[in-house]
Amino acid sequence: MHTIDHLRAAGLSETELTGGTLTVRSPIDGAEIAKVHQTPASDMPAIIAKSKAAFDAWRRTPAPQRGELVRLFGEELRKAKDDLGAIVTLEAGKITSEGLGEVQEMIDICDFAVGLSRQLYGLTIASERPGHRMAETWHPIGPVGVITAFNFPVAPWAWNTAIALACGDPVIWKPSEKTPLTAMACVRILERAMERFGEAPDGLIQLAIGGPEIGDALATSPDVPVVSATGSTRMGQIVGPKVTGRFGKPILELGGNNAMIVAPSADLDMAVRAIVFSAVGTAGQRCTSLRRLIVHDSIKDDLVKTLATAYASLPIGDPREDGTLVGPLIDAGAVDRMQEVLAQAKSEGGTVHGGAPVTEGVPAGGAYAAPAIVEMPEQTDTVREETFAPILYVMGYEDLSDAIAMHNDVPQGLSSCIFTLDLREAETFLSAVGSDCGIANVNIGPSGAEIGGAFGGEKATGGGRESGSDAWKGYMRRQTSTVNFSTELPLAQGVKFDI
Ligand code: NAD
Repeated sequence: MHTIDHLRAAGLSETELTGGTLTVRSPIDGAEIAKVHQTPASDMPAIIAKSKAAFDAWRRTPAPQRGELVRLFGEELRKAKDDLGAIVTLEAGKITSEGLGEVQEMIDICDFAVGLSRQLYGLTIASERPGHRMAETWHPIGPVGVITAFNFPVAPWAWNTAIALACGDPVIWKPSEKTPLTAMACVRILERAMERFGEAPDGLIQLAIGGPEIGDALATSPDVPVVSATGSTRMGQIVGPKVTGRFGKPILELGGNNAMIVAPSADLDMAVRAIVFSAVGTAGQRCTSLRRLIVHDSIKDDLVKTLATAYASLPIGDPREDGTLVGPLIDAGAVDRMQEVLAQAKSEGGTVHGGAPVTEGVPAGGAYAAPAIVEMPEQTDTVREETFAPILYVMGYEDLSDAIAMHNDVPQGLSSCIFTLDLREAETFLSAVGSDCGIANVNIGPSGAEIGGAFGGEKATGGGRESGSDAWKGYMRRQTSTVNFSTELPLAQGVKFDI
């Protein structure tokens, strides 16, 4: 199927794809796909006001009915999976199976949110006063601003939206300016679900396409109580304080610098497969991509040799073709940045394997590079920084405590893992003195999380949690209420105040 057919099948019209000021290019070959219309920043107050009005109606809709809309959304996504996956591939450059996987993640979170819509549980709490009942209830909170990154153009929006809708909140979405088409297609799919649902208020889901000024309007508006922002730490450092400065709730999902410790007892066959998938999947452009390998000195040289051999035969090329495992980076700037960082690592004593730009056997005009392995004498400042490209730094260790210290000695705290068959090592890594990340795995790579768990990380990753577990609480307000069904009016803590 041709590109334009997928866009049409997703419901996008010629008018929407032409005549705008935002040029959309595919990283596959640099070709222009569309010129989409941007939302003027001056429209944001009206968009936010519409969202507020939608909130007034949506919060009155019982949660299980709200869940019915999410169920229909999941159904529409199932029907649109192939087309939406193809648009993700086209716009973000993911290989076909990863594009489809992202859509599957949207479907999975819908299923989760449908169940959740009947489980927004509060608590009952023992009161110290006779004839009193104390309870905690969760209520919808209001419009949720969702800012997303180019590398996961659809799944994080769906994590936020499926949960926000079930919780009773409208959503205003500002996608990455690099991936507006996937966003337009997603909203069209949700609109089909809303038509079938019949009673969704106008303005329940709105899309605002544009650059940082659109994100800024969401970050600064007191009428947007929750702003969920996915992207670089640099972006979070700007957006986060703006949201907290007006007492809004930010949910920050920022950069990672994820590591794997490989212990002497590790199943090396499994470790190698996990390393290659996590380090080169999505061309190293996942927030959870494996960027640092901390390997026991006794097995380091052999492991690097095995990895270098595996890397040398990686199929790099058009992500739409069967068999391709490494697609393009998002643009030529990302390839240039990768080269600069490799040169810097070399100047710090690194030995670089691979990493060169690739122009043969790949579509002309695309941004392709061979994934790199870099043996480092120590964890330098270059290693501590997140470079959004397939660079895997390798460092050695002797004692597990040193490996864990090196593991945690970076600004970011998203995802982590250890490969070991030693129970003590595994449990230490997961313990209070182990990994300081939001995600810590044993004998699994750091990327490819399931939606059932809370997703997010600590430190410069921003501290936000999205998706499963009790992340829904971030999209609601908590109310503690005490009801006195006695004929007395006792005060707490035994305070006397007789009049
Ligand atoms: P980016 O920070 O450049 O952009 C992300 C989004 O923020 C875009 O929509 C952008 O327009 C918006 N933005 C940028 N500056 C802004 C500002 N000043 N005010 C308001 N909005 C602003 O990130 P990117 O290059 O699109 O994505 C890659 C980064 O995202 C990596 O650092 C990656 O680790 C991170 N990421 C994190 C997660 C996670 O869940 N932790 C998931 C995906 C990506």
